[in-house]
Amino acid sequence: MKTSLSEYFISLVKIDSESRNEKTMALQVAKNLKKLGAKVWFDDAYRETGSDSGNLYAYYPGNIKAEPILFCAHLDTVVPGKGIKPVIEGDRIKSDGSTVLGGDDKSGIAEVIWALKKLKDSNLSHGPVEVLFTVCEEIGLLGAKNVDYSRLRSKIGYALDGHRVGELTIGAPYQNTIEYRIYGKEAHAGVEPEKGISAIQIAAHAITQMPLGRIDHETTCNVGLISGGKATNIIPKEVYLKTEVRSHDQKKLENITTRLTETMQKTALQFSRENFHPQIKVKLQQEYTGFRIPPEHLVVQMGLQAASNLNIESGTNIGGGGSDANIFNRNGLEIVIAGTGMDNVHTVNEFILLSELEKGASWVEEVIKIHSTTGK
Ligand SMILES: [Zn+2]
Repeated sequence: MKTSLSEYFISLVKIDSESRNEKTMALQVAKNLKKLGAKVWFDDAYRETGSDSGNLYAYYPGNIKAEPILFCAHLDTVVPGKGIKPVIEGDRIKSDGSTVLGGDDKSGIAEVIWALKKLKDSNLSHGPVEVLFTVCEEIGLLGAKNVDYSRLRSKIGYALDGHRVGELTIGAPYQNTIEYRIYGKEAHAGVEPEKGISAIQIAAHAITQMPLGRIDHETTCNVGLISGGKATNIIPKEVYLKTEVRSHDQKKLENITTRLTETMQKTALQFSRENFHPQIKVKLQQEYTGFRIPPEHLVVQMGLQAASNLNIESGTNIGGGGSDANIFNRNGLEIVIAGTGMDNVHTVNEFILLSELEKGASWVEEVIKIHSTTGK
């Protein structure tokens, strides 16, 4: 294994691991975990995810009797993530501008492994630690959705997949995706437009009636994709729309979802003719359920305490997106998202400060120490 955390992190970002191609990365990390004395295994999530690897699990029994604690991160990166060439500029590691850096989420992986290495090197006693590195997080939380939860012993833990070290995300929204196909009636646009019913026009009318943008402090809605039509001389008979609703409140999520579909159906009715009724096909998918962990919960308190012990500014927030943590919480674990120092993620301007990387590893180590004495 590398001799410094920054070297280790750089070696990881140099391994290509776009979603569904995590195998090389997973095997490297598994080797590192084994070398540190963990029991390591993979599940068969690749059957469902289409990845070339399963999710990676590791277990350290530790030498203090305590409940185990879980640290999670994801092995995959977004695109463009092939052939990443990290550039070091003072305290900053960034990509060469042609790819992402992949600090999302290799900073999390590096910090967890480095903390375990430091604990081992210093011969410090600690309680059992469990590690879960998932595949395909970035393409719909697919790895987390196929974790074998019966094999995890921990009840609480941290997903190292947030922005600032010391900051804990203790809640995240529910999300629905709703797809619509609108079917109007085709006709020659120049010769006999009277015979046509434009699916694009129906969509346009419906969209102006939809509640969009920020609905309230915990709810948002967006039409993110629209496609349809063939040529200017054809009244379009079909349009496809993709929308999403997010809310921290499940009732509000359902209300807005219903309103979108009702708006669509009402508009279709307005465009109805005696001999032709436009049709709407709806496909509703719940992407993930939300979660909220109370600030006074042990997992939050330990995380804040660890930051405070290290003189790192700490705090909690409620997130606006979905991540593996949504799936973990739905499956009975209590997992908050912890910051790793990653910045400008999902862009080619992504970077991380070496000092933040070091802080992140120290934070993980500190949480394990606190947990070993209080989390019994
Ligand atoms: Zn991530």
